[in-house]
Amino acid sequence: MLSIRDLHVYYGGIKALQGIDIDVKEGEVVALIGANGAGKTTTLRSIFRLTPIVKGDIFFYEINLTKIPTHRIASLGIAHVPEGRRVFPDMTVKENLEMGAFLVKDKTTIKNNFDFVYSLFPRLKEREKQLAGTLSGGEQQMLAIGRALMSNARLLLLDEPSMGLAPLLVQEIFSVLRKINEEKRTLLLVEQNANMAFSIAHRVYVMETGRIVLSGTTQEVASNDAIKKAYLGG
Ligand code: ATP
Repeated sequence: MLSIRDLHVYYGGIKALQGIDIDVKEGEVVALIGANGAGKTTTLRSIFRLTPIVKGDIFFYEINLTKIPTHRIASLGIAHVPEGRRVFPDMTVKENLEMGAFLVKDKTTIKNNFDFVYSLFPRLKEREKQLAGTLSGGEQQMLAIGRALMSNARLLLLDEPSMGLAPLLVQEIFSVLRKINEEKRTLLLVEQNANMAFSIAHRVYVMETGRIVLSGTTQEVASNDAIKKAYLGG
């Protein structure tokens, strides 16, 4: 579904990505883990052409995303849930979700998507008319994920969905991510919380200073001693 090939991204003199290769197959949950500054966010943003790509290709099926404008990428069925869950604070929950559906023309599909999002996050339904800026951090994360689902995306890119959330909420978010995957959405997930990421991922890529240093099935990566020590609390 998604193939990143020999991707290099430089911010001036900073070589944030130095030739990475990542594959995501339809139906998978793929986790990208690594220390601060390893280049995880840069990788996700590159898929939407939001970074200075120096070299390399990113294929979504047969389409090379490095050759088409950013605004067309969303219409291919890819949605991005950015770090820090940027919801529109002065719009209601419902309006935020409607914004996510702006590329969807069919009214029945929009209604089905609303039903799907509200079934995953009943709390958003209860708070439909509330301004998004007044939601709790966890509710804003739910809204950011919900908004991405409103677009009919087949591939969801999630940047640190657990960031700043209490452990119980993190568990709730991850159990919903699993359900979303069961509903035939493919997920590429950047996560500091490796334990949570490993709990839902089929495969894992480990990044260090702009390179992929290890990849494999979750089981393979989790049984690596260095990974256990560095990321999984021993
Ligand atoms: P974190 O978990 O802290 O978000 P990350 O793995 O997502 O880290 P990136 O945010 O992708 O890492 O950053 C990779 C490198 O690129 C870092 O050295 C960072 O300082 C640098 N970088 C990221 N964005 C920019 C930018 N807009 N301008 C200059 N340097 C940048």
